[in-house]
Amino acid sequence: MLLEIISELLKLTIFAGLALAGILAILIWKKNLTTKVTYLRTFVQVVAMIAFFYIFSYTTWLLLILVVIFAISIVLGRFFCGWLCPFGLYLDLVAVIRKTLNTRYWSLPEKLNRSLHILRYLLLVFFIVLPFMLGPIEAWQWSLAKFLMGPFKPISVLLGPVEPLIIPWESPLKLYGLSFSYPYASIITFYSGENFALINTFIFMALTLASSFVVRRFWCRFCPTGASLAIVNRFRVFKWIPFLRLSKVEEKCTKCGICKRVCPVQVTDVYEQKGGDITTSMCMLCLRCVEMCPYEDCLKLSMAGKTLFKSRNWLEPSKIT
Ligand code: SF4
Ligand code: SF4
Ligand code: SF4
Repeated sequence: MLLEIISELLKLTIFAGLALAGILAILIWKKNLTTKVTYLRTFVQVVAMIAFFYIFSYTTWLLLILVVIFAISIVLGRFFCGWLCPFGLYLDLVAVIRKTLNTRYWSLPEKLNRSLHILRYLLLVFFIVLPFMLGPIEAWQWSLAKFLMGPFKPISVLLGPVEPLIIPWESPLKLYGLSFSYPYASIITFYSGENFALINTFIFMALTLASSFVVRRFWCRFCPTGASLAIVNRFRVFKWIPFLRLSKVEEKCTKCGICKRVCPVQVTDVYEQKGGDITTSMCMLCLRCVEMCPYEDCLKLSMAGKTLFKSRNWLEPSKIT
């Protein structure tokens, strides 16, 4: 009975949240309040986190979530990483704590940052190949669905970032009798065995949170899920597919460097590239650069050719509506 009430409340919260997010998006778009996009993004991230918690209580839907996430990336590029991923939200909250404590973040050397982005493709390939290395694949596992959910559970790796923190089912991860989880906890449990699951999950938690305290969105720089979603922007053959695009008007750029400094994953292409389409596989479409670029119409986010958001001249407050 209690679970049913919770489930209904969650559904209501998700629908109300989506409706409110839609209203906020329309307001920001119509009134050109580009400098408020971060608030909208945080709100959408929270609604998405609640939705994933709800969906995760139906284990039969997991494959469906994976399909939806990949479908989103085909249409919208890495929008999922910037706006919907729960792990991304936790790492952004760590950044908010760091800011509140007035602690400076570190930037990785550009070469190292780019190498990490390449490493995530290797990790992705490793996770796909690993089941074959672990032993023969049984005949019953050969369908894609069974393969993904098979003994090694590649699905747990790819869905790792959306695993909810609190889970309404029994888990080997318990604190004071309460089952809990964390991104990638199920794959860590699979490898560690029940005896070491708790300690290894805590170690992973400490490492990912502490590293993101020092370097913004550190895990995102080599996350295998992020790599798989980035493929549409990575390879020229797929590049034409996503509708969501970031573009720059070269004549309006003064090379002030703000876009480079504010980007949470240190994408430098917005600063370095000449005008036109500047969407890259490293960019999560979080729009922080569009929000902070202080030159009118210099950076734009467009969908199928229609401008959704563009940079505003916030250096002169009278020009901000
Ligand atoms: S890179 Fe991975 S953890 Fe980061 S936002 Fe994307 S899916 Fe989530
Ligand atoms: S913030 Fe805008 S004006 Fe400044 S370097 Fe970036 S794109 Fe150019
Ligand atoms: S380039 Fe801009 S939109 Fe892309 S991740 Fe960096 S700040 Fe976000």
